[in-house]
Amino acid sequence: MGKRAELDAVVVGGGHNGLVAAALLARAGLSVTVLERRDRVGGAVASSSPFPGVGARLSRYSYLLSLFPAPLLQALGVSLELRPRRIAAYVPDGDGGLLLSDDEDRARLSMTAIAGDPNEFEAWQSFHRMLREVARRVFPTLTEPLRSRAELRALIGDEAAWRALFDEPLSAVIERTFSSDLIRGVVLTDALIGMFAAADDPELRQNRCFLYHVIGNGTGRWDVPVGGMGALSDALAACCRGAGAQLKTGTEVVSIETDGGAAEVHCADGQRLSARRVLACVAPVVLSRLLGEPATDPAPEGSQLKLNMVLTRLPKLRDPAVSPADAFAGTFRVGEGYAAIQRAFDEASAGVIPTVPPFEVYCHSLTDATILSAELRAAGAQTLSLFAMHMPARLFAGDAASAKQDAVAATLRSMNSALAERIEDCLWLDEDGSPCIEALTPPEIEDELGMPGGHIFHRDLTWPYAESDEEVGQWGVETDYPNVWICGAGARRGGAVSGIPGHNAARAVLEAEARS
Ligand SMILES: Cc1cc2nc3c(=O)[nH]c(=O)nc-3n(C[C@H](O)[C@H](O)[C@H](O)COP(=O)(O)OP(=O)(O)OC[C@H]3O[C@@H](n4cnc5c(N)ncnc54)[C@H](O)[C@@H]3O)c2cc1C
Repeated sequence: MGKRAELDAVVVGGGHNGLVAAALLARAGLSVTVLERRDRVGGAVASSSPFPGVGARLSRYSYLLSLFPAPLLQALGVSLELRPRRIAAYVPDGDGGLLLSDDEDRARLSMTAIAGDPNEFEAWQSFHRMLREVARRVFPTLTEPLRSRAELRALIGDEAAWRALFDEPLSAVIERTFSSDLIRGVVLTDALIGMFAAADDPELRQNRCFLYHVIGNGTGRWDVPVGGMGALSDALAACCRGAGAQLKTGTEVVSIETDGGAAEVHCADGQRLSARRVLACVAPVVLSRLLGEPATDPAPEGSQLKLNMVLTRLPKLRDPAVSPADAFAGTFRVGEGYAAIQRAFDEASAGVIPTVPPFEVYCHSLTDATILSAELRAAGAQTLSLFAMHMPARLFAGDAASAKQDAVAATLRSMNSALAERIEDCLWLDEDGSPCIEALTPPEIEDELGMPGGHIFHRDLTWPYAESDEEVGQWGVETDYPNVWICGAGARRGGAVSGIPGHNAARAVLEAEARS
């Protein structure tokens, strides 16, 4: 340091948020270089073909989109097609099941039959009306400077909604509102995708997770990205290059030195880049390590098992009233009764793989077949993307291979309980004759993507408001250094595929530029 910085900004980590930040800064005329450890950019937003000789481009990590603001996609010039799914969810229950489709009469009939309570559907509708209203008000604030808690509460303007979502454990509103164990579980699931928490966790981690799952683009709808997640990261990378940002892959950052005015970024291959500003798309604990600081946040812990599969055909269901194409088009949820989810949490907390892992699975190729080669399409092949909950990293800390085997076996058993044939018998075989199924545990996610503890949001999600007076009016991306910002999922209002931390960090940097 001391000499003139070569670059205006270096982005450490080429996840989708780093790409959003780089594109916005390069467009504003800054010289920007993105340094990515892997041989490709995009991080958890990626498509690839993990099975030899099988032409299916799978969204290996993240798979559905809700939180990427449509105006931000438009401003970036990304023309990604997002397809809604006509079925929201299917939840098997013995030889029957709950089907939540666009068709209101069908959904009402199905819910009333499952719940055995004529009021359950009204309760569902009124709960979701409340959520939509909160979503409509809160979502636009995510790309604005932070409001105080009191300001956000006033903006929501509904004290009952505030209490249910921001003040008391989510279990309270769920148990007050719904009588059926299955419906309670369906609602709770959104609170646990990516977080290891109980429904009544007094720290309200489940509430924060729930909130982000239900407010995306003011509707909370989860859509299918046509072409898979790789279509989004490819478009963002093109956007960066088009704006003049440099993307350097295969370049791991090993340390960052800063005096608050200029920074030097050191890479594993010996490169040193000097820049006035640094944006970190890595987790906060990783940034602390790169800066040579002790970590102040607790060590993050991911809690999921991701399975990717290619099938010769969709499996037959135990439930004769619903077609597999309907059930798998939406989110197919298994083991997600309210009590069953708590049992799985208790088992995992005690260090045991859940006996019946709760999970959700969906078939991308039913909504978008472009991810399949012509050969697979002609043969009627389909893909499945499965996300099992309550699989914390600690379960894989000992004999990881045998824990992984147990976790996969338990998940497939859980799935087979809803099917009339074994899922294993429907798997496509790759060119070596091996079944097309892969599993990713939290430690494997950490190895591949650098997400600490395999935490899919880099750390537990935070409230979408300022938690101190100092934070009011900031962007939720600031660090202790005036020239270093977090631009990844670990920012306030980060987590998921949203581009929001990337956008907010770019805004914070441009404000700093305007001040200097
Ligand atoms: C299995 C799985 C399923 C998910 N499903 C969904 C979903 O369906 N929908 C959804 O919205 N969200 C989902 N998520 C969450 C979402 O994908 C992430 O929260 C989000 O993509 C994080 O993006 P990011 O750009 O902030 O960081 P990341 O995607 O984590 O990117 C960070 C990048 O930094 C690089 N890096 C790390 N350390 C260094 C270093 N020292 N030097 C250089 N580069 C470095 C990494 O290689 C990586 O490319 C899922 C995540 C996972 C893992």
